[in-house]
Amino acid sequence: MHEMMVAENLLAAISDEAAKRNVKPIGAKISCGKLYAINDEALCFAFEAIAKGTACEALKLQIEHKPIQGRCKKCNETFNVDFSSPKCPKCSSEDFELLPDAPLLLEEIEF
Ligand SMILES: [Zn+2]
Repeated sequence: MHEMMVAENLLAAISDEAAKRNVKPIGAKISCGKLYAINDEALCFAFEAIAKGTACEALKLQIEHKPIQGRCKKCNETFNVDFSSPKCPKCSSEDFELLPDAPLLLEEIEF
């Protein structure tokens, strides 16, 4: 299960930070690209399951999904791609390339 792996990595990263500061984390914010296909519910469920009995037990996860970005080949504008009308918002060109999906990032931990 994809989410279980993500949850394990998150728990390790958050526990590390918490241990360094010697405080209990109460929340964490992560972000990832849309193509990463994280299921919020599955991730929270997996995290809860493995965090039981650790300092991260009561931690609340917040997941932000970043839109896919494109870069216009005509005017070089970088923009969020709207797949219902995929074109450059600046020059209306439909000739653009999709940028790589945003990676999964641990944005911040609340203590
Ligand atoms: Zn353009």
